[in-house]
Amino acid sequence: MDTTTTATHGASSGTRGTKGPPFLAASPSGGAAARTASASTLVLEVIGWPGHLAGQHVDVRLTAPDGYQAARSYSLAAPTDGDRIEITVQRVPDGEVSSYLADEARDGDVVEVRGPVGGWFVWKPEDSGPVLLVAGGSGVVPLMAMIRSRDGVSPAPFRLIYSVRTPQDRIYDHELRRRATQDGGLEVAFLYTRTVPDGETRSVGRITAEDLIAYGWPADVKPTCYVCGPTAFVETVSDLLVGLGHDPAMIKTERFGPSGP
Ligand SMILES: Cc1cc2nc3c(=O)[nH]c(=O)nc-3n(C[C@H](O)[C@H](O)[C@H](O)COP(=O)(O)OP(=O)(O)OC[C@H]3O[C@@H](n4cnc5c(N)ncnc54)[C@H](O)[C@@H]3O)c2cc1C
Repeated sequence: MDTTTTATHGASSGTRGTKGPPFLAASPSGGAAARTASASTLVLEVIGWPGHLAGQHVDVRLTAPDGYQAARSYSLAAPTDGDRIEITVQRVPDGEVSSYLADEARDGDVVEVRGPVGGWFVWKPEDSGPVLLVAGGSGVVPLMAMIRSRDGVSPAPFRLIYSVRTPQDRIYDHELRRRATQDGGLEVAFLYTRTVPDGETRSVGRITAEDLIAYGWPADVKPTCYVCGPTAFVETVSDLLVGLGHDPAMIKTERFGPSGP
C-alpha cells in the first residue's frame, strides 16, 4: 500500500478498530533496525507518545493517496524510550499493511499510531514470580518486550519457548542467545516446525506437551504464562498448559491472526 507523506485524519474505510486514544503522527527512524527472512523491525518516532507497559500493542494506520485507510495492531517490542517505539512486523503474503511496514517503509514517511492498547496481557517489573513465555512466530514480539523490561530491574525467572518455521525465521535471534548466555534467570528454547539447524536433537514438529514439560515450568511452580502467536497456536498451547495442571487464571493469551508457524 502506498501511503501519503502526511498524516490524514477523519473518515476511514478499510480500518479495523475505531475505539481508543487518538492517532498520533509517527515516522520510521534509523532505517529497518533488524531484518530476518520473514520480518523487519522498525523504530518509529511518535510525537507525544505517552509511554507503555511490556505486552501492550499499538494500532498502526496507513493512508493511501486516494484517502483509503487501513489499520492493524502491532505489539510493542521494547520498553518505553521517550518518543521512540519499536515494532517487528512479519510479512504476510499479499498483506495490505505488513508488506508496506516490513518492506517499503522509509525514514521520513508518515504513518499514524494509536496506543498503547491492552491492559491484561502485560508484565510489570514488580511481578516477581516465575514466568513462562510461549511464542509462535511473530508472537515473540510482546514477549521480547517483557524480557527486555526485566533486564536489570527484576529477579523474576523467565523461560521462553519459541516455535518458528526455520532457523532463518528466528526474530531477535542474536539478542535472545546473548541474553540467555549472560543472564542466569533467562532460559530460551527454540522449536522448529519445518527445518532444524545442524546439531538440533528435537525433530521438526509443532509444539507438544512434552516440549512444555521439557522447557517450561512445572505447574506446581505456579508461573504466570504468556502465550502469543497465531490463533491456532495460542489455543493449542493454552489447552496443553491446562492439561498439564496450570491454573487457567494464570494463562494470559494474545492472538495475532489466522495461520500457524
Ligand atoms: C493484538 C495484536 C498484536 C499483533 N502484533 C503483531 C506483531 O507484533 N507483529 C506482526 O507481524 N503481526 C502482529 N499482529 C498481526 C497484524 O495485526 C496483522 O494482522 C498482520 O500484519 C497482517 O496484516 P496485513 O494487513 O498485512 O494482512 P491482511 O491484508 O489483513 O490479510 C492478508 C491475508 O493474510 C491473512 N492474515 C491476516 N492476518 C494474519 C496474521 N496475523 N498471520 C497470518 N496471516 C494473516 C488474511 O486472512 C489474509 O488472507 C498482531 C495482531 C493483533 C490482534
